[in-house]
Amino acid sequence: MSAQDEARVVDEVHPQLLIGGRWRDAEGGATFAVDDPSTGTVLVEVADASVADGKAALDAAVAVQVEWAATAPRDRGEILRRAFEAINDHADDLALLMTLEMGKPLAEAKAEIAYGGEFFRWFAEEAVRISGRYSIAPNGATRLLTLKQPVGPCLMITPWNFPLAMGTRKIGPAIAAGCTMVVKPAGQTPLTMLRLADLLVEAGVPDGVLNVVTTKHTGEVMEPLIRDPRLRKLTFTGSTEVGRRLVEQSAEGLLRVSMELGGNAPFLVFDDADLDRAVDGAMLAKMRNIGEACTAANRFIVHESVADEFGRRLATRMGAMSVGRGTDDGVEVGPLIDGTQRDKVAELVDDAIAKGADVLCGGQTPEAPTYYPPTVLAGVSTDARLATEEIFGPVAPIFTFADEAEALRMANATEFGLVAYAFTQDASRMIRVYEGLETGMVGINQGIVSNPAAPFGGVKASGFGREGGAEGIEEYLETKYVGIAP
Ligand code: NAP
Repeated sequence: MSAQDEARVVDEVHPQLLIGGRWRDAEGGATFAVDDPSTGTVLVEVADASVADGKAALDAAVAVQVEWAATAPRDRGEILRRAFEAINDHADDLALLMTLEMGKPLAEAKAEIAYGGEFFRWFAEEAVRISGRYSIAPNGATRLLTLKQPVGPCLMITPWNFPLAMGTRKIGPAIAAGCTMVVKPAGQTPLTMLRLADLLVEAGVPDGVLNVVTTKHTGEVMEPLIRDPRLRKLTFTGSTEVGRRLVEQSAEGLLRVSMELGGNAPFLVFDDADLDRAVDGAMLAKMRNIGEACTAANRFIVHESVADEFGRRLATRMGAMSVGRGTDDGVEVGPLIDGTQRDKVAELVDDAIAKGADVLCGGQTPEAPTYYPPTVLAGVSTDARLATEEIFGPVAPIFTFADEAEALRMANATEFGLVAYAFTQDASRMIRVYEGLETGMVGINQGIVSNPAAPFGGVKASGFGREGGAEGIEEYLETKYVGIAP
């Protein structure tokens, strides 16, 4: 990609607030800078919404809720379908924009565009399948009608690691269900969402249904919205720490709440596993998105008889990956989102080494402030911080176990419960393991679980609620029961 392409895709973004169908500046013209994490240079200034701007966005969403809920499901589905096609038509430019603001290699950005767009196709199809029930009460005295109605105005807060997909899996079901919304993308990566909003407007989303607010005063602007009695749902993807705070704030309005929070995924390799598949799966589970994924394998828990071989093979693959600016040809590992995240990853590795881990590859902190090399650590102590903390970087720590019971105990020894991976060829063990894992999702002999047709979400400190699948639209619907006397 040329420098002209980079400038053009940034130029195409409306760096403003989308409120009531109109792009406009923040109060007082306030802005903040969005940086390229690979160079630290400013890409563009975007609107920095005030509390009043946030309120105006919710006002706009509330104003059209009733009208929007009354639209034909087919019409809502067709808007999503057109937006899905627009995402595909603009896939290369969207991917470049995402790489510029987030750092991930272009191939990864393209994969996210394809994945994120699929939520619109999926929910375009779900929009026309919202249904209810009719039955006769057991005593025959009355008729029981149940119907589904949109929850109402939603607030959607998304993280920086998947700037498109974390938005589409909320916006898709909300549009399908007939909810209006205010979207607040991450301050570090708002550009992809702003461009997506443009495509949604072109696809026919009516004024006020979708409002997008960017701000650097996040807590200050979001809290009044969460406490506003007109808001009916909060859906959040981000850290467990912030999620806990938002659940407290949403208690006041007794909001419907979905929380997609942090993870600490165990990746189990049993002695009967096909090691080629396990290493392929590990590369995906660890290195997708430079390890900056809530689904990233955080702990490789490997049977002691195959741990050396698995570690060697994984280190050969990870050590051969090319690190660089995500826009450059052949780069497989881009920069981390910022220097703070990079330093945290380096600290976790240094801590594990100090507690006895062996470095099989990587492990050296480079001078460039946002980069960290793919790293494999063997013989990691369960006292190491990375056994309990989310790494969010390209680091694979290997722990060993002696038997299945110990493997499950280790896998579940975390406050998180988003996803787990297990590699085994024994069908009975497979069942025992997926039933015994305390997570919302399990990948068996595969290193990726994300799929728009499946319910994505966690248990324990990884949150609650599901995105995608048949469950995804339910999060945006209320069930109403009507008793009818014949
Ligand atoms: P974060 O710091 O929690 O931020 C997420 C979003 O919350 C951002 O838009 C952020 O805005 C906003 N936010 C921060 N403080 C807030 C407050 N006081 N009130 C309202 N909103 C607030 O998380 P992150 O570092 O961006 O994302 C990484 C985390 O997300 C990881 O823990 C990862 O596991 C998790 N994640 C989970 C899933 C899942 O589906 N379970 C998927 C992806 C990521 P600003 O950017 O303006 O601070």
